[in-house]
Amino acid sequence: MSEPITASQQSIAFIGAGNMASSIIGGLIDNGWAKDSITATARSEETRNSVSHRFGIQVTDDNHQAVEQSDIVVLCVKPQVMKTVLLDLAPTLQETKPLLISVAAGIDLASLQKWGGSGLPIVRSMPNTPSLLRSGASGLFANELVNESQRSITDTIFKAVGIVLWVQDEARIDTVIAISGSGPAYYFLFMEAMTEMGVKLGLDQETAKQLTLQTALGAAKMAVYSDVDAKELRRRVTSPGGTTEQAIKTFQAGGLEQLVEQAMKAASDRAAEMT
Ligand code: NAP
Repeated sequence: MSEPITASQQSIAFIGAGNMASSIIGGLIDNGWAKDSITATARSEETRNSVSHRFGIQVTDDNHQAVEQSDIVVLCVKPQVMKTVLLDLAPTLQETKPLLISVAAGIDLASLQKWGGSGLPIVRSMPNTPSLLRSGASGLFANELVNESQRSITDTIFKAVGIVLWVQDEARIDTVIAISGSGPAYYFLFMEAMTEMGVKLGLDQETAKQLTLQTALGAAKMAVYSDVDAKELRRRVTSPGGTTEQAIKTFQAGGLEQLVEQAMKAASDRAAEMT
């Protein structure tokens, strides 16, 4: 496996075939990755049958076999089983030296290296749940053995489910977790509160929910596609003396910015503790 990885027709194995693996596999296939180059492993026959039926890829319960035939190995098992899975796979990984990509939260490169063995090019990734809808945001960090073509192929893999950002320091993965990893829940909380208040202010639940969700979607689209930043967009929709200004002043008087700072610091600290 010493040849550089250059094309999206490389053979790829997913160790673990649950939610995250399925999101990525679906994205890869939609983007033209050859189905017969993809293998996924799972313990249960039920998961294997389901993935095989859904994607038409090869499935097996033999992690070694999947690794032996692959240039890229994506570790998609739960963090608590990663050590057992990698220690078991280490001899095969040492023989074939594939590009190893982990999506496991809270498992650092040092542990992946210790369990999988030395000399492996490894990427640690932090995708998020909107990857399920191809609207994910993934933060990535590579060890020094990952070459340019392997970075590029990793980009291709994660771009199949959303946007990709590389961080230059592994500790910044904790920041990624505090923004995009945990972030969807922050917005869900805000949506929950807005819908509830819509009901308190007299709307029926469904109307309040639809207005809240469409507003979140519309605001996100404006922020993504506009050529000005969120602060300027906010300024433009906040007329002096108007309703929005009253609401924004209320948020600020209640310390919303400081609260966001504390919440994200708490998430980042917790991520560091868990690693
Ligand atoms: P999941 O749906 O529970 O999938 C885990 C998969 O691992 C299952 O298919 C399971 O097989 C398989 N598995 C367990 N032990 C195995 C073994 N020894 N050999 C081969 N396969 C094995 O979990 P998930 O939500 O996809 O999460 C997977 C990883 O993604 C985690 O490390 C998590 O931290 C990371 N992640 C997930 C998200 C997310 O949004 N879901 C976001 C960021 C990161 P069975 O089905 O047969 O039990």
